[in-house]
Amino acid sequence: MSQLNLILLGPPGAGKGTQADRLRDDFVLPHISTGDILREQVAQGTELGKEARRYMDAGELVPDDVIVGMITDRIDAGDARDGFLLDGFPRNEKQADALKEALDKLGRRLSAVLLIEVPDDDLVRRLAGRRVCVKNPTHIYHVDFDPPKHDDVCDQDGARLMQRDDDREETIRNRLHVYHSQTEPLIDYYDEAGLLRRFDGRRNPDEVHRHIRATIATLRLEDEF
Ligand code: ADP
Ligand code: ADP
Repeated sequence: MSQLNLILLGPPGAGKGTQADRLRDDFVLPHISTGDILREQVAQGTELGKEARRYMDAGELVPDDVIVGMITDRIDAGDARDGFLLDGFPRNEKQADALKEALDKLGRRLSAVLLIEVPDDDLVRRLAGRRVCVKNPTHIYHVDFDPPKHDDVCDQDGARLMQRDDDREETIRNRLHVYHSQTEPLIDYYDEAGLLRRFDGRRNPDEVHRHIRATIATLRLEDEF
């Protein structure tokens, strides 16, 4: 069977996590979110978590060597050998080169890079109003755009909703700055490699999902013939 090795690219708040959660039901792919993995380490109080936290709270990138080792192990784990959906990685050219090298060694290649585009002003509103489930961080809400049925309670499992520490206005601005200076160059990087697919992230989550789903379905067909 053909492999789907996919990257979700886009600024913080573009809707990568929201879309990954939906795509998981369409295509059986492990959703690998570096942000979720790091937050788990922080919650468990591991050495890695303690180191990472300083950068995350400031809205800066965690050093590459930490992240790259984590991801190269993860994409070669059982459930990711037939494909993956990477969310939040790579975030700069060094990470992108490291990913390519790791995939080359495994005789694999990327299928596509799915770019979700949203203007900065919308991103600030999205991040400031984001709420996530304390039990399962893939359950994502927004106080205005996607409110839970009951205030501060997850529709899916009844757990409490919380606001992420880094979703505060001053940290948000720095995260957007870091995105534009360090991550945005990956758009050209992947465009030149012929892998980039663009999606208008201003549309509502269902529409964005339909477009991405159709693109992935086409990729899979093209690969089979
Ligand atoms: P968002 O979903 O809002 O884009 P993430 O959950 O992906 O945010 O990331 C939160 C924080 O975790 C980042 O600000 C950064 O400090 C750290 N982080 C996540 N992924 C990476 C990565 N690939 N490289 C370096 N730091 C990362
Ligand atoms: P990312 O993983 O890219 O940082 P999220 O998926 O966590 O982004 O979404 C950020 C916030 O924006 C969440 O509160 C989410 O509910 C909301 N959101 C996601 N997609 C849309 C959309 N298409 N329109 C409006 N709000 C959205």
